[in-house]
Amino acid sequence: MTTLVGLNIVIASMLGLLALLCAVASLALRRNVPLAWLAGALSVGTVQTLFLTFAPGTVLEFISAMALAPFGFWLANNTIHALKDEKRWRRAFLTGFVGLCAGAVALLVLGAPFFYQVLFVQLACTLAMLDAALRIVSRMKWWRLLEVSLLLAVGTLTLVRLARLPLLVWYFGFDVDFASFNGSALELGLLAVESLVTLAIITLVISSIIADTIATFQQQSERDGLTGLLNRRAVDAMASQPGPAGGAVIFCDIDHFKQVNDRYGHQAGDAVIQAFAAIIERTGHHAARIGGEEFALLLPGAGAAQAQGLAEMIRVRFNDMIHHALAADARLSASFGIAEYAANETPAGAFVRADAALYRAKEAGRNRVETCPEAERPARPATRRIQSV
Ligand code: GH3
Ligand code: MG
Ligand code: MG
Repeated sequence: MTTLVGLNIVIASMLGLLALLCAVASLALRRNVPLAWLAGALSVGTVQTLFLTFAPGTVLEFISAMALAPFGFWLANNTIHALKDEKRWRRAFLTGFVGLCAGAVALLVLGAPFFYQVLFVQLACTLAMLDAALRIVSRMKWWRLLEVSLLLAVGTLTLVRLARLPLLVWYFGFDVDFASFNGSALELGLLAVESLVTLAIITLVISSIIADTIATFQQQSERDGLTGLLNRRAVDAMASQPGPAGGAVIFCDIDHFKQVNDRYGHQAGDAVIQAFAAIIERTGHHAARIGGEEFALLLPGAGAAQAQGLAEMIRVRFNDMIHHALAADARLSASFGIAEYAANETPAGAFVRADAALYRAKEAGRNRVETCPEAERPARPATRRIQSV
Protein backbone atom coordinates (compact mmCIF):
# COMPACT_ATOMS: atom_id res chain seq x y z
CA MET A 1 0.00 0.00 0.00
CA THR A 2 2.84 2.38 0.96
CA THR A 3 4.49 1.62 -2.37
CA LEU A 4 1.23 2.38 -4.17
CA VAL A 5 0.82 5.73 -2.41
CA GLY A 6 4.45 6.56 -3.23
CA LEU A 7 3.91 5.65 -6.87
CA ASN A 8 0.77 7.78 -7.06
CA ILE A 9 2.66 10.77 -5.70
CA VAL A 10 5.41 10.24 -8.28
CA ILE A 11 2.77 10.05 -11.05
CA ALA A 12 0.98 13.16 -9.74
CA SER A 13 4.29 15.08 -9.57
CA MET A 14 5.23 14.01 -13.09
CA LEU A 15 1.83 14.97 -14.50
CA GLY A 16 1.94 18.31 -12.65
CA LEU A 17 5.45 19.07 -13.89
CA LEU A 18 4.50 18.15 -17.46
CA ALA A 19 1.39 20.34 -17.21
CA LEU A 20 3.51 23.26 -16.06
CA LEU A 21 6.07 22.70 -18.85
CA CYS A 22 3.28 22.47 -21.46
CA ALA A 23 1.68 25.68 -20.16
CA VAL A 24 5.02 27.55 -20.25
CA ALA A 25 5.89 26.12 -23.69
CA SER A 26 2.46 27.05 -25.10
CA LEU A 27 3.04 30.65 -23.97
CA ALA A 28 6.64 30.67 -25.23
CA LEU A 29 5.50 29.38 -28.64
CA ARG A 30 2.94 32.20 -28.74
CA ARG A 31 -0.17 30.36 -27.61
CA ASN A 32 0.46 26.95 -29.06
CA VAL A 33 -3.12 25.81 -28.51
CA PRO A 34 -2.65 21.99 -28.45
CA LEU A 35 -0.03 22.43 -25.73
CA ALA A 36 -2.44 24.63 -23.74
CA TRP A 37 -5.22 21.99 -23.92
CA LEU A 38 -2.69 19.30 -23.00
CA ALA A 39 -1.61 21.37 -19.98
CA GLY A 40 -5.28 21.47 -18.92
CA ALA A 41 -5.73 17.71 -19.39
CA LEU A 42 -2.55 16.99 -17.41
CA SER A 43 -3.63 19.34 -14.60
CA VAL A 44 -6.90 17.44 -14.29
CA GLY A 45 -4.90 14.19 -14.22
CA THR A 46 -2.76 15.61 -11.40
CA VAL A 47 -5.78 16.65 -9.31
CA GLN A 48 -7.44 13.27 -9.93
CA THR A 49 -4.36 11.37 -8.80
CA LEU A 50 -4.04 13.54 -5.66
CA PHE A 51 -7.74 13.01 -4.75
CA LEU A 52 -7.43 9.26 -5.29
CA THR A 53 -4.29 9.16 -3.14
CA PHE A 54 -5.17 11.45 -0.26
CA ALA A 55 -8.94 11.28 -0.06
CA PRO A 56 -9.96 7.65 -0.45
CA GLY A 57 -13.53 6.90 0.53
CA THR A 58 -14.53 10.58 0.52
CA VAL A 59 -16.75 12.63 -1.73
CA LEU A 60 -13.60 14.10 -3.33
CA GLU A 61 -12.61 10.66 -4.57
CA PHE A 62 -16.11 10.19 -5.98
CA ILE A 63 -15.96 13.57 -7.74
CA SER A 64 -12.53 12.69 -9.10
CA ALA A 65 -13.73 9.41 -10.62
CA MET A 66 -17.11 10.60 -11.85
CA ALA A 67 -16.78 14.29 -12.75
CA LEU A 68 -13.08 14.94 -13.38
CA ALA A 69 -12.63 11.89 -15.61
CA PRO A 70 -14.99 13.09 -18.40
CA PHE A 71 -13.60 16.62 -18.04
CA GLY A 72 -10.03 15.32 -18.48
CA PHE A 73 -11.09 13.27 -21.51
CA TRP A 74 -12.85 16.31 -22.98
CA LEU A 75 -9.62 18.33 -22.59
CA ALA A 76 -7.64 15.47 -24.18
CA ASN A 77 -10.15 15.45 -27.05
CA ASN A 78 -9.60 19.19 -27.54
CA THR A 79 -5.83 18.62 -27.56
CA ILE A 80 -6.17 16.23 -30.52
CA HIS A 81 -8.56 18.60 -32.29
CA ALA A 82 -6.15 21.52 -31.92
CA LEU A 83 -3.21 19.30 -32.94
CA LYS A 84 -5.04 18.40 -36.15
CA ASP A 85 -5.97 22.05 -36.70
CA GLU A 86 -9.59 20.94 -36.75
CA LYS A 87 -11.95 23.92 -36.67
CA ARG A 88 -15.18 22.28 -37.76
CA TRP A 89 -18.17 22.55 -35.48
CA ARG A 90 -18.57 19.22 -33.70
CA ARG A 91 -22.24 19.42 -32.81
CA ALA A 92 -22.88 15.64 -32.84
CA PHE A 93 -19.99 14.93 -30.47
CA LEU A 94 -20.76 17.81 -28.11
CA THR A 95 -24.47 16.93 -27.97
CA GLY A 96 -23.67 13.29 -27.22
CA PHE A 97 -20.97 14.16 -24.68
CA VAL A 98 -23.00 16.78 -22.80
CA GLY A 99 -26.07 14.51 -22.94
CA LEU A 100 -24.18 11.61 -21.34
CA CYS A 101 -22.68 13.84 -18.62
CA ALA A 102 -26.10 15.37 -17.91
CA GLY A 103 -27.56 11.84 -17.79
CA ALA A 104 -24.94 10.79 -15.22
CA VAL A 105 -25.78 13.82 -13.02
CA ALA A 106 -29.51 13.15 -13.35
CA LEU A 107 -29.04 9.51 -12.32
CA LEU A 108 -26.90 10.62 -9.37
CA VAL A 109 -29.58 13.08 -8.21
CA LEU A 110 -32.30 10.45 -8.65
CA GLY A 111 -30.23 7.98 -6.64
CA ALA A 112 -30.09 5.42 -9.47
CA PRO A 113 -27.88 2.35 -9.00
CA PHE A 114 -24.18 3.13 -9.31
CA PHE A 115 -23.78 0.90 -12.37
CA TYR A 116 -26.00 3.19 -14.47
CA GLN A 117 -24.17 6.30 -13.30
CA VAL A 118 -20.84 4.77 -14.15
CA LEU A 119 -22.25 3.57 -17.49
CA PHE A 120 -22.98 7.15 -18.58
CA VAL A 121 -19.58 8.44 -17.35
CA GLN A 122 -17.67 5.66 -19.13
CA LEU A 123 -19.62 6.23 -22.35
CA ALA A 124 -18.85 9.99 -22.19
CA CYS A 125 -15.11 9.27 -21.78
CA THR A 126 -15.20 6.67 -24.57
CA LEU A 127 -17.04 9.07 -26.89
CA ALA A 128 -14.40 11.77 -26.26
CA MET A 129 -11.61 9.36 -27.26
CA LEU A 130 -13.54 7.90 -30.19
CA ASP A 131 -14.12 11.41 -31.57
CA ALA A 132 -10.38 12.16 -31.11
CA ALA A 133 -9.47 8.96 -33.01
CA LEU A 134 -11.84 9.95 -35.84
CA ARG A 135 -10.21 13.40 -36.01
CA ILE A 136 -6.78 11.77 -36.35
CA VAL A 137 -8.04 9.49 -39.15
CA SER A 138 -9.67 12.41 -41.00
CA ARG A 139 -6.34 14.29 -41.17
CA MET A 140 -4.11 11.25 -41.39
CA LYS A 141 -0.91 11.12 -43.38
CA TRP A 142 -0.48 7.33 -43.32
CA TRP A 143 3.24 7.43 -44.03
CA ARG A 144 3.97 9.37 -40.84
CA LEU A 145 4.92 6.93 -38.10
CA LEU A 146 4.11 9.50 -35.42
CA GLU A 147 0.51 9.85 -36.59
CA VAL A 148 -0.07 6.12 -37.00
CA SER A 149 1.33 5.53 -33.48
CA LEU A 150 -0.91 8.27 -32.07
CA LEU A 151 -3.95 6.71 -33.72
CA LEU A 152 -3.06 3.28 -32.31
CA ALA A 153 -2.58 4.72 -28.80
CA VAL A 154 -5.82 6.76 -28.85
CA GLY A 155 -7.67 3.76 -30.35
CA THR A 156 -6.33 1.52 -27.55
CA LEU A 157 -7.44 4.01 -24.88
CA THR A 158 -10.91 4.14 -26.45
CA LEU A 159 -11.16 0.34 -26.38
CA VAL A 160 -9.87 0.08 -22.78
CA ARG A 161 -12.49 2.62 -21.66
CA LEU A 162 -15.21 0.77 -23.55
CA ALA A 163 -14.08 -2.60 -22.17
CA ARG A 164 -14.75 -1.40 -18.60
CA LEU A 165 -18.48 -1.79 -19.00
CA PRO A 166 -18.68 -5.50 -19.93
CA LEU A 167 -15.79 -6.24 -17.55
CA LEU A 168 -17.64 -4.46 -14.76
CA VAL A 169 -20.76 -6.58 -15.33
CA TRP A 170 -18.69 -9.75 -15.59
CA TYR A 171 -16.72 -8.95 -12.41
CA PHE A 172 -19.47 -7.53 -10.16
CA GLY A 173 -22.82 -7.96 -11.90
CA PHE A 174 -25.18 -4.98 -11.94
CA ASP A 175 -25.22 -4.46 -8.14
CA VAL A 176 -21.77 -2.94 -7.88
CA ASP A 177 -21.20 0.09 -5.58
CA PHE A 178 -18.57 2.79 -5.88
CA ALA A 179 -16.36 1.61 -2.97
CA SER A 180 -16.03 -1.99 -4.17
CA PHE A 181 -15.60 -0.91 -7.82
CA ASN A 182 -12.99 1.72 -7.06
CA GLY A 183 -10.80 -0.40 -4.82
CA SER A 184 -11.10 -3.53 -6.96
CA ALA A 185 -8.21 -5.31 -8.66
CA LEU A 186 -10.11 -4.90 -11.92
CA GLU A 187 -10.20 -1.09 -11.62
CA LEU A 188 -6.55 -0.93 -10.48
CA GLY A 189 -5.52 -3.13 -13.41
CA LEU A 190 -7.47 -1.03 -15.91
CA LEU A 191 -6.05 2.18 -14.43
CA ALA A 192 -2.51 0.79 -14.77
CA VAL A 193 -3.09 -0.07 -18.45
CA GLU A 194 -4.70 3.34 -19.06
CA SER A 195 -1.81 5.14 -17.33
CA LEU A 196 0.71 3.46 -19.64
CA VAL A 197 -1.33 4.21 -22.79
CA THR A 198 -1.93 7.78 -21.61
CA LEU A 199 1.81 8.22 -21.08
CA ALA A 200 2.37 7.04 -24.67
CA ILE A 201 -0.29 9.48 -25.94
CA ILE A 202 1.27 12.41 -24.03
CA THR A 203 4.70 11.55 -25.45
CA LEU A 204 3.31 11.23 -28.99
CA VAL A 205 1.30 14.46 -28.73
CA ILE A 206 4.34 16.39 -27.47
CA SER A 207 6.51 14.80 -30.19
CA SER A 208 3.94 15.77 -32.86
CA ILE A 209 3.84 19.34 -31.54
CA ILE A 210 7.66 19.52 -31.59
CA ALA A 211 7.77 18.05 -35.14
CA ASP A 212 5.08 20.50 -36.34
CA THR A 213 6.84 23.44 -34.67
CA ILE A 214 10.18 22.54 -36.26
CA ALA A 215 8.46 22.15 -39.68
CA THR A 216 6.79 25.57 -39.25
CA PHE A 217 10.04 27.30 -38.29
CA GLN A 218 11.84 25.57 -41.16
CA GLN A 219 9.12 26.71 -43.56
CA GLN A 220 9.34 30.27 -42.19
CA SER A 221 13.14 30.35 -42.45
CA GLU A 222 13.10 29.08 -46.06
CA ARG A 223 10.09 30.91 -47.48
CA ASP A 224 9.46 34.50 -48.44
CA GLY A 225 6.58 35.96 -46.42
CA LEU A 226 4.94 37.95 -49.25
CA THR A 227 5.00 35.33 -52.02
CA GLY A 228 5.57 31.95 -50.36
CA LEU A 229 8.47 31.34 -52.77
CA LEU A 230 11.88 30.19 -51.54
CA ASN A 231 13.80 33.08 -50.01
CA ARG A 232 17.35 34.24 -50.69
CA ARG A 233 18.81 32.13 -47.89
CA ALA A 234 17.16 28.93 -49.16
CA VAL A 235 18.15 29.48 -52.77
CA ASP A 236 21.73 30.33 -51.77
CA ALA A 237 21.90 27.06 -49.81
CA MET A 238 20.58 25.12 -52.83
CA ALA A 239 22.91 26.96 -55.20
CA SER A 240 25.98 26.07 -53.16
CA GLN A 241 25.55 22.35 -53.96
CA PRO A 242 27.11 21.25 -57.27
CA GLY A 243 24.66 19.28 -59.40
CA PRO A 244 25.67 15.99 -61.07
CA ALA A 245 24.43 17.09 -64.50
CA GLY A 246 24.77 20.88 -64.56
CA GLY A 247 21.80 23.10 -65.30
CA ALA A 248 20.67 26.67 -65.84
CA VAL A 249 19.53 29.64 -63.78
CA ILE A 250 17.16 32.43 -64.74
CA PHE A 251 17.29 35.81 -63.04
CA CYS A 252 14.18 38.00 -63.41
CA ASP A 253 13.59 41.65 -62.51
CA ILE A 254 10.35 43.58 -62.98
CA ASP A 255 10.91 46.66 -65.15
CA HIS A 256 10.36 50.16 -63.78
CA PHE A 257 8.84 48.73 -60.64
CA LYS A 258 9.65 51.80 -58.59
CA GLN A 259 7.16 53.72 -60.75
CA VAL A 260 4.42 51.23 -59.81
CA ASN A 261 5.00 51.97 -56.15
CA ASP A 262 5.22 55.71 -56.77
CA ARG A 263 2.06 55.84 -58.89
CA TYR A 264 -0.22 53.25 -57.28
CA GLY A 265 1.21 52.77 -53.80
CA HIS A 266 3.16 50.07 -52.01
CA GLN A 267 0.16 47.72 -51.68
CA ALA A 268 -0.39 47.70 -55.45
CA GLY A 269 3.35 47.03 -55.80
CA ASP A 270 3.01 44.06 -53.45
CA ALA A 271 0.12 42.70 -55.55
CA VAL A 272 2.31 42.92 -58.68
CA ILE A 273 5.14 41.06 -56.92
CA GLN A 274 2.67 38.34 -55.89
CA ALA A 275 1.29 38.07 -59.42
CA PHE A 276 4.78 37.63 -60.87
CA ALA A 277 5.60 35.07 -58.16
CA ALA A 278 2.46 33.09 -59.01
CA ILE A 279 3.54 32.84 -62.66
CA ILE A 280 7.00 31.52 -61.87
CA GLU A 281 5.74 29.21 -59.15
CA ARG A 282 3.39 27.55 -61.63
CA THR A 283 6.38 26.50 -63.74
CA GLY A 284 7.05 23.83 -61.11
CA HIS A 285 10.76 24.66 -60.90
CA HIS A 286 12.69 25.92 -57.86
CA ALA A 287 11.42 29.52 -57.73
CA ALA A 288 12.80 32.12 -55.34
CA ARG A 289 12.33 35.77 -54.50
CA ILE A 290 15.85 37.03 -54.02
CA GLY A 291 15.14 40.74 -53.56
CA GLY A 292 12.35 43.34 -53.71
CA GLU A 293 11.19 42.68 -57.30
CA GLU A 294 13.94 40.26 -58.21
CA PHE A 295 13.43 36.55 -58.69
CA ALA A 296 15.46 33.47 -59.60
CA LEU A 297 14.61 30.10 -61.09
CA LEU A 298 16.90 27.12 -60.65
CA LEU A 299 16.68 24.51 -63.40
CA PRO A 300 18.92 21.54 -62.58
CA GLY A 301 19.59 19.42 -65.65
CA ALA A 302 18.27 22.07 -68.07
CA GLY A 303 20.20 23.71 -70.90
CA ALA A 304 20.23 27.35 -72.02
CA ALA A 305 17.68 26.68 -74.79
CA GLN A 306 15.15 25.20 -72.38
CA ALA A 307 15.71 28.08 -69.93
CA GLN A 308 15.25 30.59 -72.76
CA GLY A 309 11.93 29.01 -73.76
CA LEU A 310 10.72 29.11 -70.15
CA ALA A 311 11.84 32.71 -69.58
CA GLU A 312 10.16 33.77 -72.82
CA MET A 313 6.91 32.12 -71.72
CA ILE A 314 7.06 33.92 -68.34
CA ARG A 315 7.90 37.23 -70.04
CA VAL A 316 4.88 37.02 -72.38
CA ARG A 317 2.49 35.91 -69.62
CA PHE A 318 3.52 38.77 -67.33
CA ASN A 319 3.46 41.27 -70.16
CA ASP A 320 -0.10 40.22 -71.12
CA MET A 321 -1.36 40.31 -67.56
CA ILE A 322 -4.10 42.69 -66.45
CA HIS A 323 -3.31 44.07 -62.97
CA HIS A 324 -6.49 44.96 -61.13
CA ALA A 325 -4.58 47.09 -58.64
CA LEU A 326 -3.29 49.32 -61.49
CA ALA A 327 -5.00 51.34 -64.25
CA ALA A 328 -7.10 49.20 -66.62
CA ASP A 329 -4.73 49.66 -69.56
CA ALA A 330 -1.50 49.39 -67.52
CA ARG A 331 0.83 46.64 -68.71
CA LEU A 332 4.08 45.67 -67.00
CA SER A 333 7.15 43.88 -68.20
CA ALA A 334 10.15 42.08 -66.79
CA SER A 335 13.71 41.41 -67.95
CA PHE A 336 15.52 38.08 -67.75
CA GLY A 337 19.14 36.92 -67.59
CA ILE A 338 20.12 33.30 -68.18
CA ALA A 339 23.31 31.39 -67.50
CA GLU A 340 24.23 27.72 -67.62
CA TYR A 341 26.41 25.87 -65.14
CA ALA A 342 28.41 22.76 -65.89
CA ALA A 343 28.36 19.42 -64.10
CA ASN A 344 30.38 19.69 -60.88
CA GLU A 345 29.98 23.47 -60.92
CA THR A 346 27.67 25.07 -58.37
CA PRO A 347 24.60 27.02 -59.59
CA ALA A 348 25.98 29.90 -57.46
CA GLY A 349 28.78 30.27 -60.02
CA ALA A 350 26.15 30.96 -62.68
CA PHE A 351 24.35 33.59 -60.56
CA VAL A 352 26.98 36.26 -61.35
CA ARG A 353 26.74 35.51 -65.08
CA ALA A 354 22.91 35.45 -65.02
CA ASP A 355 23.01 38.82 -63.23
CA ALA A 356 25.33 40.21 -65.92
CA ALA A 357 22.97 38.88 -68.64
CA LEU A 358 20.03 40.51 -66.85
CA TYR A 359 21.93 43.80 -66.76
CA ARG A 360 22.40 43.52 -70.52
CA ALA A 361 18.66 42.90 -70.99
CA LYS A 362 17.97 46.12 -69.05
CA GLU A 363 20.55 48.03 -71.07
CA ALA A 364 19.09 46.73 -74.33
CA GLY A 365 15.68 48.24 -73.53
CA ARG A 366 14.05 45.83 -70.98
CA ASN A 367 11.17 43.35 -71.53
CA ARG A 368 13.57 40.81 -73.02
CA VAL A 369 15.57 37.66 -72.31
CA GLU A 370 19.38 37.68 -72.54
CA THR A 371 21.61 34.63 -72.20
CA CYS A 372 25.20 34.60 -71.00
CA PRO A 373 27.37 33.86 -74.08
CA GLU A 374 29.20 30.54 -74.10
CA ALA A 375 32.54 32.41 -74.19
CA GLU A 376 31.85 33.98 -70.78
CA ARG A 377 31.44 30.60 -69.12
CA PRO A 378 34.48 29.51 -67.11
CA ALA A 379 36.52 26.55 -68.35
CA ARG A 380 35.53 23.21 -66.85
CA PRO A 381 37.32 22.37 -63.62
CA ALA A 382 40.68 20.62 -64.19
CA THR A 383 39.61 17.50 -62.26
CA ARG A 384 36.66 17.09 -64.58
CA ARG A 385 38.89 17.30 -67.70
CA ILE A 386 41.28 14.69 -66.33
CA GLN A 387 38.33 12.37 -65.57
CA SER A 388 36.95 12.66 -69.10
CA VAL A 389 40.24 11.92 -70.86
P1 GH3 B 1 14.50 48.63 -63.37
O1 GH3 B 1 13.62 48.57 -64.54
O2 GH3 B 1 15.86 49.15 -63.71
O3 GH3 B 1 14.58 47.33 -62.66
O4 GH3 B 1 13.89 49.71 -62.38
P2 GH3 B 1 13.06 49.44 -61.08
O5 GH3 B 1 12.29 50.68 -60.76
O6 GH3 B 1 12.28 48.21 -61.22
O7 GH3 B 1 14.21 49.13 -60.03
P3 GH3 B 1 14.65 49.81 -58.71
O8 GH3 B 1 15.70 48.92 -58.14
O9 GH3 B 1 15.04 51.25 -58.92
O10 GH3 B 1 13.39 49.80 -57.79
C1 GH3 B 1 12.95 48.69 -57.12
C2 GH3 B 1 11.88 49.15 -56.15
O11 GH3 B 1 11.27 48.03 -55.52
C3 GH3 B 1 12.44 49.99 -55.04
C4 GH3 B 1 11.74 49.50 -53.79
O12 GH3 B 1 11.08 50.53 -53.12
C5 GH3 B 1 10.73 48.52 -54.30
N1 GH3 B 1 10.50 47.38 -53.41
C6 GH3 B 1 11.44 46.57 -52.84
N2 GH3 B 1 10.82 45.62 -52.09
C7 GH3 B 1 9.48 45.83 -52.19
C8 GH3 B 1 8.32 45.17 -51.65
O13 GH3 B 1 8.40 44.17 -50.91
N3 GH3 B 1 7.10 45.68 -51.96
C9 GH3 B 1 6.98 46.77 -52.78
N4 GH3 B 1 5.76 47.20 -53.05
N5 GH3 B 1 8.04 47.42 -53.28
C10 GH3 B 1 9.28 46.97 -53.02
MG1 MG C 1 13.28 46.33 -61.46
MG1 MG D 1 15.73 45.38 -59.06
